Amino acid sequence: MLDRPSGQQLVCTRCNARYPLDTPIWRCSCGGLLAILYAPRFDRRRITRLGPTLWRYKDAMPLARETEPVSLGEGYTPLLHGRLGGVPVFLKQDQLFPSGSFKDRGAAVLVSQVAALGIKRVVEDSSGNAGTALAAYCGRAGIACEIYAPEETSPAKLAQMRAYGADVRTVAGGRAAAAAAALEAAESHYYASHVWNPFFLHGTKSFALEIWEQMGWKAPDTVVLPAGNGTLLLGAALGFDELLAAGQIRKLPRLVAVQAEVCAPLADAFRRGVQQITSVTPGLTLAEGIAIGDPVRGAQMLAVIGRTGGEVLTVSEAEILQALRVWWRLGYALEPTAAATLAGLAQYVNQGHREKETIVSVITGHGLKAMSQIDALLGEGV
Ligand SMILES: *Cc1c(COP(=O)(O)O)cnc(C)c1O
Ligand SMILES: [Zn+2]
Repeated sequence: MLDRPSGQQLVCTRCNARYPLDTPIWRCSCGGLLAILYAPRFDRRRITRLGPTLWRYKDAMPLARETEPVSLGEGYTPLLHGRLGGVPVFLKQDQLFPSGSFKDRGAAVLVSQVAALGIKRVVEDSSGNAGTALAAYCGRAGIACEIYAPEETSPAKLAQMRAYGADVRTVAGGRAAAAAAALEAAESHYYASHVWNPFFLHGTKSFALEIWEQMGWKAPDTVVLPAGNGTLLLGAALGFDELLAAGQIRKLPRLVAVQAEVCAPLADAFRRGVQQITSVTPGLTLAEGIAIGDPVRGAQMLAVIGRTGGEVLTVSEAEILQALRVWWRLGYALEPTAAATLAGLAQYVNQGHREKETIVSVITGHGLKAMSQIDALLGEGV
């Protein structure tokens, strides 16, 4: 295989093996996670001439020039400015994506690459928004999409996947069993995994690029993000890293990750100062979308949090419920998982913030996905 560092290639983060970018693999033959070698371009004048979607950053994505985006008009979500406990904060409105969560960032870019490769069928495992996002973009592209979901997945999310045309298979035995079933199906079909596939992270990195542009081509001091599998956290880190390397920003923002107290493997490892995560059994939490006990990219998350001078916060169920109530009453339709990040944001501004610090956080998912649960939680007139 030709070694062309300036060309576009997949590279293994463990053994450094290289593969052509259009190889339909999702991990290295050694089992390692793949990254993508290529040269992103950031041309501000060109960006501002393009439409208000995440495709205004297509030159920064590892897609061939001729690749047609599979698009539902996603991205470039509003960055609202407000105050929380007197502290100014900016809040990305990622609940406003077409399928109702930021996962559309990753799915749009991943499915565009899959379509360009001429792949007709993909498999994925998900108990929530990654599956709904993938189902939406596969439906749009006319790609068959098989999703393995744990049987306890919320009926509304399963219904959303099916409505987009996905072939949903429920699996007994939790997330691990669903992942194992998807892996088996991936022997014969492309594994469009939001956890493993590097194109997904190059989609979620648009979160950082939008913030950069919306803050006047600057990076904020701090970004407060959820951490389950870390697709937003690692996408954000990738975007800010690329901007720094290209001389577009002068420093990396501190990345502050938020986990639910009852499922906090990242927080545990961070406190112990170790570089690997010890898996935990997730407890029951309102923030089911971040209840990942054994994140595949745990070591990568620890590395970016450490490298940016960030930290990991944990939030209790009472804090999540409180954030859910407070933000709904301010007019924001958010799902319970999204409330966990805002509970972390509240902790951060109450305890940790510095003078004149610019802080950005995010609403990750739309509340209409979970109205009966939300009604049961908030409906008591409290
Ligand atoms: C997926 C998701 C998260 C967590 O993202 P990770 O990539 O797992 O870290 C948070 N909120 C919502 C609404 C999600 O769908
Ligand atoms: Zn390898």
